[in-house]
Order: sequence, then structure tokens, then C-alpha cells
Amino acid sequence: MDDLLSVQLPAHQVYALSLCGILIALFIARQVLPLIYIWCRALFLLGLRLFSYTFIINRHRWAGPWTISLILGRGIYVVSNAVCLLLPQPSRTELASRAGYLAATNITPLFLSFHLDFLANSLGLSRKTTQEVHKAAGVMTFALLLLHVSLSLDLEEVLDLYRIMASASVGLMAVLSIVPLRKRVYELADKTHRALAVIIAFSTWQHISTAAYVQQWLLFTLIGLIGLVHAVQFLLFLYRNTRWGKPFPKAYIINDGVIVRIVLQLPRPIKIDAGQYISLSIMSSTLGFWSWAQSHPFTITSWSPLKQDKLELYVQCRGGLTLRLLHMGERNCLAFFSGPYGKSHSLKEAKCVLMLTTDFGIIAVLPYLKKITATHKCRAHIIWHVKRLSEFAPLVALLNDYLQDPTLRRILQISIYNEGATHNEALGDHGRVNTFPHAPNIAEILQSEVDGDSIPEFSVIDLFVLSVSGSHELRDTTRKVAGRYLSRGLILEELDYQQE
Ligand SMILES: Cc1cc2nc3c(=O)[nH]c(=O)nc-3n(C[C@H](O)[C@H](O)[C@H](O)COP(=O)(O)OP(=O)(O)OC[C@H]3O[C@@H](n4cnc5c(N)ncnc54)[C@H](O)[C@@H]3O)c2cc1C
Repeated sequence: MDDLLSVQLPAHQVYALSLCGILIALFIARQVLPLIYIWCRALFLLGLRLFSYTFIINRHRWAGPWTISLILGRGIYVVSNAVCLLLPQPSRTELASRAGYLAATNITPLFLSFHLDFLANSLGLSRKTTQEVHKAAGVMTFALLLLHVSLSLDLEEVLDLYRIMASASVGLMAVLSIVPLRKRVYELADKTHRALAVIIAFSTWQHISTAAYVQQWLLFTLIGLIGLVHAVQFLLFLYRNTRWGKPFPKAYIINDGVIVRIVLQLPRPIKIDAGQYISLSIMSSTLGFWSWAQSHPFTITSWSPLKQDKLELYVQCRGGLTLRLLHMGERNCLAFFSGPYGKSHSLKEAKCVLMLTTDFGIIAVLPYLKKITATHKCRAHIIWHVKRLSEFAPLVALLNDYLQDPTLRRILQISIYNEGATHNEALGDHGRVNTFPHAPNIAEILQSEVDGDSIPEFSVIDLFVLSVSGSHELRDTTRKVAGRYLSRGLILEELDYQQE
């Protein structure tokens, strides 16, 4: 071996070998790497389709839809908690204390922010992902706490008041999180959830601050961090809602048939990107005594490349505050907001954007449409599936306004699938809105868009973005069909506002 290393190559051989090396490197870069890239991309897209676009369990009333990536994510989370709990093999007493410690560790990040949207924004995650993580951590904490308490009872330990308070609160939270129940009494469930969270935080602190195995410095660091995040959130709220010499934000409520339009006048202009939303609280005795304590997310439909001091919101009337807003009639009210929240999906490189929406979901794509039409960079096609078009007259008028600009006619196409209609009818005199008296066939629409049937000059699709804001059925069907076109450059984006 030593002999081999000590061999000295003459200079002309080093030169010849280097030349060979350069030629081989050039060949690999030119011929092999593109092949590897094509194979890897194909493999990656196949994996993506299999893992994220194929449902293992379809959507049911209580659960689903579940993709392999979701199951894998949850599996990894459960296994890592089980490993921490069971390895190395513990005694019963040790298992009880490990379960308690892990429960506290899992629940702590959930206290980082009062507003989940703020946390999602700060971490660059989507609202949906943050909600999923929040839910998973809640369920894990519930299971670990159950184990902790039952083992403590089994070991005939005396349960202190704080442990009982925390366990009862987590149990009640689990009951309130049952989806159909939460949907029925959303406001009550939400406020109770927050109140229980405060009780859990206080009782956990009281319980674990006396435990010998918990380092005090760690506890104080965590509390400091949670306090800091809340302070930043509060200061941002003050900054956005107040300005020296300017009045507080004011909401102009305009009744537009069955839809309410709100124009929010701000003391300080802010930059809003397409698809973002705010959390709005309206102060009015007509809306009920507790209106000040409610905050509801609404998408900002006004879009501008500049900062805005007037935000426009469209509100669909549901059963609670939004219904009272409709009954209230036209009025000006004091209002406060937090945000803007939410990720704006980039359409910079897109050659074609297909927007699939149902009913009021059209609201979420309007700001994107404004952005696209302002930049005139790509073609946009909106598919709007409604049960009865007459219920959305103000939004139809808004869409018709967009189409008055002749330059937009080449890039913007709107297809309305109106199940309540009895015949095919065209809207406006611009010829860019077609209506169909039936539900859309998503598979056919996607095929024709990818093939460039609608506008031939865009037949070569480099990047094709599909944004969806609609019913569960639309989202699930679209995800399944979209998987087929990933290799054609399709990117599927689900918007923050979904009809649920
Ligand atoms: C990111 C996002 C953007 C939205 N943008 C718009 C919009 O531009 N226009 C619009 O009309 N609606 C929008 N919504 C839905 C809107 O927030 C709810 O319709 C509204 O909060 C219902 O209020 P309510 O008191 O009348 O509801 P209720 O009749 O009490 O409840 C009806 C349903 O509304 C939902 N809901 C109620 N309160 C809240 C809340 N505080 N946060 C989240 N969901 C809630 C629940 O699913 C509930 O089941 C958006 C929702 C989200 C998550």
C-alpha cells in the first residue's frame, strides 16, 4: 500500500489523465446529468402523486381525506412520542412522570400565540398545516395526560387540584373539538377552548413548577418566549389600528341584497397581497353585547400594488354575527383588526392560471384575478360552480366590471356552472362569460386546459397554477385529478378560505 502511494507519476501522464478526466466530466455533464435529472424528476413527481395526491381514506363525516404523506407525518409523530415514552424501559412510576413531561412538552408550543394565524405567518406555514399540527398536538397531549393520570391513580398517588383541573379541561376541550358539534356552536366552542387553554396553562405551570425533575430555568425561558410572542402580537395590533391624529379604523357596512360589503377605513395604510385576510372585530351594540369579543376572518378583495388605506371585504351571511350584520342595514361602526394573515401564492412564472371555485369561494380568487389582470402576464380561467346564480348578483356585477377592459378579454375567461339555470346563457356583451346549466366535469376541464384548447397561443404550458377555493367535494375531486398533470408543470394551490 505504502509503495502504491509513494509512486510518483511523471508530468506527461498527469497531463493525459487530467485531459481524460475533463472529457469524462464534460460527457457526464452533457449526457448523464440531464438523464438523471429527468429520471429523478419523474420519480419525484411519481412519489408526489402517490404520497400527496392519492387518498388512502376518502373524506367521511368524521375523518379524512387521508393521503400517505398525512398518515406518514402522523405516524412519525406517534412513533417518536412512543419511543421517548418507552425507551429505555421504565418502571410504572417513571412511565407516569415521562407521560406527564411529554404531555407538557407537546402542549407548550400551542400556547405560543393567541392567534393561530399569527403563528402560521411567523413560521411561513399555511393556515391548514398549522391547524393540522395544532390538532395533532392536542390529541397527543390528551392521550399522554390520560396515561399520566391513570398511572398516578394506579400508583395510589394523591391527585392535586391542578392535575385534576388540567385533565378535566383537556377532556372538555377534546369533546368540544368534535367537528359537527364545533360547527354548530362555533363561537361558544371557540371562546370555551381559549378559556380552557388559560386554565390548562395555569394549572400545568402550578403542577410542574414543584416537580423535582423540571429545571426552573427551562420553565422561565419558555414563559419568557411565550410572553415575548404575545407582546409582539399586541404591539403589531396597536401599530396597525392606531395612529397619532387619525381616528380608529371604521367599518362602512353596505347591504347588497343577501351579501354584505364592508369597506374598512384604516388609520395607517398597509400592504396587502392577493389572497390575504384579516381578523375583524366590529363594535356595535346592534350586533350584540359580545360583538367586541368576536373576531372573524375575512378575505381582502381589494388588491393594489401599493399600500392601501381602504380595504374591501365581502361577507356571506351565515348564522351568527354575519347574519346580524345583514339585518343591521347600512351603518358605520368602530372596528379593529389583526393581520394581514395568509400566504399569497406566487403567479410570477405562471403561463396559465385556472381557478376552481364554488359559491362564495369566488371571493378568495378575486384579488388574484385583480393581480393577474393588473400585470397581464398570464391567461386566467375561472370556473365558478353555483347552486343558484341569482344569489350572487353583486359578485356577478363585479366580475362583469373586470371584463369591461378590452385588453383583459384576451386573457380572462369565466365559466359559470349554474345548476339552477334552465338553459345556456351568456353574460354581458363581452363574450367572455359562458354559463352552463349543470355541474362542471373537473376531469374534462383540466384535460382541455392542459391541452390548451381554450386559447391556442398558450398551448405550450410551462407552469400551470390551479387555485381552489370551494366545497369539500370540489377540493377532493380536483386533488385526485390534478395528480395526473404534475409532469405537465401543474401546481395545485388550495387557498386559505375554503367553503366548509
Ligand atoms: C381564511 C378565511 C377567510 C375567510 N374569508 C371570508 C370572506 O371573505 N367572506 C366571508 O363571507 N367569509 C369568509 N370566511 C368565513 C367567515 O369567517 C365565516 O363565515 C364567519 O366567521 C361566520 O361567522 P358567523 O358568526 O356568522 O358564523 P356562525 O353561523 O356562528 O358559524 C358558521 C360557520 O362559520 C365558521 N366560523 C364561524 N366563526 C368563525 C371564526 N371566528 N373563524 C373561522 N371560522 C368561523 C365555522 O365553520 C362555522 O361552522 C373566511 C374564513 C377563513 C378561515
